[in-house]
Amino acid sequence: MNRDEILTWLREEDPEKLQGLWTLADTARQQGVGDAVHLRGLIELSSHCVRSCAYCGLRCGRKPLSRYRMSPDEVVDCARQGIRLGYGTVVLQTGEDPGLRAPDVAEIVRRIKALPTESGVPLAVTLSLGERADDELALWKQAGANRYLLRFETSDPLLFARIHPSLPGRPSDRVAMLRRLRTLGYEIGSGVMVGIPGQAWGTLADDLLLFRELDLDMIGIGPYLPHPDTPLGRGDPGFGPLEPGQQVPSTAQMTCKAVAIARILCPQANIPSTTALATLDPDHGREDGLSRGANVVMPNLTPVRYREKYDIYPDKACLHETAETCAGCLRGRIEQLGRVVGSGQGGRMGTEACSSVAQIAVSG
Ligand code: SAH
Repeated sequence: MNRDEILTWLREEDPEKLQGLWTLADTARQQGVGDAVHLRGLIELSSHCVRSCAYCGLRCGRKPLSRYRMSPDEVVDCARQGIRLGYGTVVLQTGEDPGLRAPDVAEIVRRIKALPTESGVPLAVTLSLGERADDELALWKQAGANRYLLRFETSDPLLFARIHPSLPGRPSDRVAMLRRLRTLGYEIGSGVMVGIPGQAWGTLADDLLLFRELDLDMIGIGPYLPHPDTPLGRGDPGFGPLEPGQQVPSTAQMTCKAVAIARILCPQANIPSTTALATLDPDHGREDGLSRGANVVMPNLTPVRYREKYDIYPDKACLHETAETCAGCLRGRIEQLGRVVGSGQGGRMGTEACSSVAQIAVSG
């Protein structure tokens, strides 16, 4: 699929034609990764953050927001619960928190990898801790971490600089960090928000092409959800949307189009149906994501008492549901779609997650 075809699909509004895109994506998903839906238990272990991202409710300039950092014992307990619920992976996610010291993270990873599981296969550990130094990333890899998630958020460097300011003396280059993570031996994941103010059609098309260029193992795509305590959410000067006609809308349908195209470009990648999509469309979001290209869901393992404080965007789906309730509900939804819950770690399938040539006829 080339850039023009991507743009045509992104702008397509005819439901019948879009049905063609959903079918192409579902076929690519079936051929690329099969019918298994993998469950990754999400542990949001710290809400402290040194960054001032214009979209995110955890931004450090925001007051008042009571912050938390879980103890290593609490994190390992969550991972144990993930094993009890049959998950093959835990994802450790935080704001960018230097107070979370690298040796402590390494120790948490080692303890999680040593937990006994029924199959004897240890949990896969995915880290999503923001931008950290190479020696820290290497340390965590040695401790047994398998994967790293770091969304590049947008392929437009000017938009990126505006919404994700660098820290003093540390220019932010997430694409470069993803390449280093790959060299260190991590499976790498990235992604973007659909409809972030300032995102033009061509920008989103370039985001999707960059997924393929980076040969991502995991691709997370969710709608942008405005947070009222952020510059973007308030629409502060310099943070408004583009002219109508140029700005990509942050709708569930647009998110599904991006998921579907990502699947066609990267048939073997692991692609979640995101919580943000379920938040925007509580009735159909999860299912639409799964039937339009996604093959992963990330149920929350964070203790309910901390959840509300991990306030990246408002009204997050399943905010008050315990891990058990979430697990049961998701299994039901997956089976209703005629899919099966994946077993094991559910890692990268082939040598190339993304296709270098279009393998499927894609024009519509
Ligand atoms: N500190 C880590 C994890 C951030 S939270 C990091 O920066 O990588 C994970 C993702 O949530 C972000 O990468 C971003 O794409 C998404 N996110 C943040 N704020 C959001 C918002 N207002 N709407 C939708 N998604 C958001």
